Amino acid sequence: MAYDDQNIFAKILRGEIPNDTVYEDEHVLAFNDIAPQAPVHVLVIPKGAYVSIDDFGAKASADEIAAFYRSVSKIARDAGLSEDGYRVIANTGGHGGQEVPHFHAHILGGKKLGAMLP
Ligand code: 5GP
Repeated sequence: MAYDDQNIFAKILRGEIPNDTVYEDEHVLAFNDIAPQAPVHVLVIPKGAYVSIDDFGAKASADEIAAFYRSVSKIARDAGLSEDGYRVIANTGGHGGQEVPHFHAHILGGKKLGAMLP
């Protein structure tokens, strides 16, 4: 699947749409989800143009991949989630229910989340 540079997260990265940033570095932007499904619901995205985790894992540089996973754990730690735990989800493609075609991880926490799937 080709990257669509009109997707909503591409617009956020270009500053065309505002976001509530919680973390940013050279390779990563993280912001609060607009429709939170838990007390903490942060979206972590690479700044590079990757459609999905599939695309990211295949094409991103080692620096981008390291920055991404380090940022996920740092954001969770800084949000106070480490002790009680949290969930990281990367919906991928049609069966995965991915709505926005720019790779993102959801960090969900702040309450007991229950079963992984309904
Ligand atoms: P997906 O279903 O692709 O894994 O998740 C997309 C997520 O992006 C959803 O949780 C949705 O609430 C969030 N989202 C969609 N549009 C926006 C937006 O404009 N701003 C923010 N902060 N989140 C958005």
